[in-house]
Amino acid sequence: MSKEKKVSKPEKFQAPRGVHDILPEEHAYFTVIKKVVRHRARQAGFRRISTPVFELKNLFTRGVGEQTDIVEKELYTFATKKDGDEYALRPEGTAGIVRAYIQHGMNQLPQPVELYYIEPFFRHDRPQKGRYRQFHQFGFEVIGEPDPGIDAQIIQLAATIHEDLGIADKLKLQINTIGCPKCREKFSNQLRDYFIGKERSLCANCVRRLAENPLRILDCKNEDCRILAENAPKFENVICEDCKDHHQKVLELLDAVDIKYTENPQLVRGLDYYARTVFEFWNESDGAQNSVGGGGRYDGLVEQLGGTATAACGYAGGVERIIELMQDSRMLAPDKDQIDIFVAQLGFGAKKVALQILTELRGRGVHALGALGKASMKDQLGKADKFGVKYALILGEVEVREGKIILRDMASGVQEVIPIGKAVEKVIKKIGEKNLDRYDPSGELKKDTTVRPEEELLIRD
Ligand code: AMP
Repeated sequence: MSKEKKVSKPEKFQAPRGVHDILPEEHAYFTVIKKVVRHRARQAGFRRISTPVFELKNLFTRGVGEQTDIVEKELYTFATKKDGDEYALRPEGTAGIVRAYIQHGMNQLPQPVELYYIEPFFRHDRPQKGRYRQFHQFGFEVIGEPDPGIDAQIIQLAATIHEDLGIADKLKLQINTIGCPKCREKFSNQLRDYFIGKERSLCANCVRRLAENPLRILDCKNEDCRILAENAPKFENVICEDCKDHHQKVLELLDAVDIKYTENPQLVRGLDYYARTVFEFWNESDGAQNSVGGGGRYDGLVEQLGGTATAACGYAGGVERIIELMQDSRMLAPDKDQIDIFVAQLGFGAKKVALQILTELRGRGVHALGALGKASMKDQLGKADKFGVKYALILGEVEVREGKIILRDMASGVQEVIPIGKAVEKVIKKIGEKNLDRYDPSGELKKDTTVRPEEELLIRD
């Protein structure tokens, strides 16, 4: 009997449940969304910010709210072994950005400070279509201005991005005001009075919400809770004059820029920091209510996180949900990875020349792929076909000796022999100047030539 131990196959790993790889095809969508967001944000004077993917856990318990689903059920937390500090992967962007605003004294900058981001976030949510445990959001924050014009402008920015991405007609803007803490407290008391005694018709979560934050019952998706919520007291009866006026002005400004909305008194949003305006863009195309993004005012958050009282407003859109909607709407993202030409070679001398040609082609903005391994010519051309390239340059030792190269039209199979020195120009002509990838990092970066104080001393010495 053989004494050899049976070698077990190494375990095959899968991505953890609820998280997903972004494969190249999907990246085409990510790229176009990032470009559009960056472009529209810059046009409106926003600057980009990135905060860490993890923060002290307390930032979120204090910022987002201890009793929100996001903090209570969905936070990924961990403690460091050495000092036992508790951290959390960020579930949303606003708390971290407000922390950064306070930490870096951004209140000293001209106000409001307008920031945007495109980042991954983490929530231990129940995975399903459009709901992941790591997902991406792009978002805008305007910190330091209470005017309703800011609310309208942020909504307009989001709406413009939806237009750009070809999904605007699938989305409905839902808007509401949840008032300031004062009118909200009044409202909470009225809701509590209304729901007490009706607990049997509420879901378990809402029974708990009734004690902690009855406003959240209005946001529940459970059918029985929704029916009950329809007859609940209306916020419009308790809202204070200032909050009413703010909301009215937001709506009038939206009218002025022709943005359609549905007033939805049931909309409260799941995060505690909101005040006054709240809004969401809903995709109702397949019957299911599905929010692709939302936001609102968070006038109390800066103070709550240790800064001075500062009004603010923001929005976050879900990238994965927007991609799904773009795909449902048959919007094709441009494929910028298309290979223009394949360079095939046989023999070491040919490989050297091929490498030189590839370098020159790439430098001129041609997407050029080379087979630098030892595959046969047939295999190399087969690979060129698989990449769907229109042209191939073919080079063997004989061609190198004669200073020639073969240019092959892959579709027709027609080949022409041209001097090696003319190959790059010829390829560019075939592809067309306008199709070149013109980005030139060396042309964009400049060296700072101003003299620094310490250098000035050296010059004088
Ligand atoms: P929220 O601030 O929680 O409303 O999130 C804003 C947007 O982010 C939502 O409208 C979704 O588009 C997206 N989003 C939130 N949670 C998830 C998730 N678990 N998976 C994918 N997208 C999400």
